[in-house]
Amino acid sequence: MEKMAIGVFTSAGAGLGASIERVKSLGVTTVQLHTPPKDRRTQGAAEEIKKSFADAGLDVTLVFCGFAGESYASIQAVKDTVGLVPVTTRAARTAETKEVVKFTSWVGAPGIGIHIGFIPEDTDSANYKDLVETTRGICDACKKVGLTMNLETGQETAETLLSFIRNVQRDNLAVNFDPANMILYGSGEPIAALKRVGQYVKSCHCKDATWSDQPGETWGKETPLGEGQVGIETFVKTLNGLGYTGPLTIEREISGDQQIADIKKAVGLLNDIKAKL
Ligand code: MG
Repeated sequence: MEKMAIGVFTSAGAGLGASIERVKSLGVTTVQLHTPPKDRRTQGAAEEIKKSFADAGLDVTLVFCGFAGESYASIQAVKDTVGLVPVTTRAARTAETKEVVKFTSWVGAPGIGIHIGFIPEDTDSANYKDLVETTRGICDACKKVGLTMNLETGQETAETLLSFIRNVQRDNLAVNFDPANMILYGSGEPIAALKRVGQYVKSCHCKDATWSDQPGETWGKETPLGEGQVGIETFVKTLNGLGYTGPLTIEREISGDQQIADIKKAVGLLNDIKAKL
């Protein structure tokens, strides 16, 4: 795979052929995939997905976990429902994540991505310690099949994320850095945060956003790449300065024709930036 190969975040739905054609038409060479529904997480389905993307010349660079019952309706809803942090669903979601690990190894991607949820600030709490143990267990399951576990950024500050990674003490625990999320959640200036956690960044989302007038209370606003407050050129240059060679995966969280148009523009923008490196 070429350095900083451009990609998109997409799904491998039942209509695989159509979605792959659409991805190819965007002019990208890599994809991150949402985990398909449970009935398509079999070895057979994974091998079909692997072959379809390989035939199309697309590298699958990460498979993203998602769970039934998650809500991104508000920052509070994320706190209550997303990832491994909510206590009542932790055991079941941990088991499910380990199924996704198997699926990912069958697809041949190098890692899983996950929104772990809002990491508790109190590192002495039983809840925090259990989350550390849970994460170790998933990292160890990943390690057995040669995968990394990439934590999506945004919900916490770079400092909290850094200290969590250090407490887990697993060399395959990594970061999927989403600069727009730092703004959307109000958890810190993205370039400074990237520099702070840079050594752990194995994948990223190229996404942009503008700050909320009440950061951390209400959502900021996602924008087309280059039209928000991330500073995408500085973002890519900072990644380059950190020695990052992984994919640049465009994430645009809208749907329909506008999503396609925005992604095409984003591909052009990233190619222009890469040419200047
Ligand atoms: Mg993201």
